[in-house]
Amino acid sequence: MPRTKYPAVVATTPGRSRNMAAIRSRDTKPELALRRALWRRGHRYLVDVSLSVTGVRRRVDLLFRGPRVVVFVDGCFWHVCPEHGSFPSRNAHYWRPKLEGNQRRDAETDTALRAAGFRVVRLWEHEPLDAAVAAVEAALAPA
Ligand SMILES: [Zn+2]
Repeated sequence: MPRTKYPAVVATTPGRSRNMAAIRSRDTKPELALRRALWRRGHRYLVDVSLSVTGVRRRVDLLFRGPRVVVFVDGCFWHVCPEHGSFPSRNAHYWRPKLEGNQRRDAETDTALRAAGFRVVRLWEHEPLDAAVAAVEAALAPA
């Protein structure tokens, strides 16, 4: 399911809400393209890894274990990209706290990972592939 698609349904019950929260976008097209490109360029990484750092357990899209680099490929809708993200006005009472919660959680995740010595690369799914590859490689081999 492409995560840029505007979600058609809105959670109305706790069960449904949990279910929607569990729709964690992985293996999206931009992420797969990035993985393929990095692999072709000789990089090796683990995919969709759960890391426990400073008491926080978070999944990362890519982990480069040796250099301690983690990569996230964030969906424009779910992570509120400045170019394509928005707070839907329909069902705003549902979406605004949810999306703001995602943003807060992303910031907490980055802080926790950095405190644990990881370099964090956060990419938007709209990022051109070569720019995304360059950002990851810059983190892997900092000047
Ligand atoms: Zn975007």
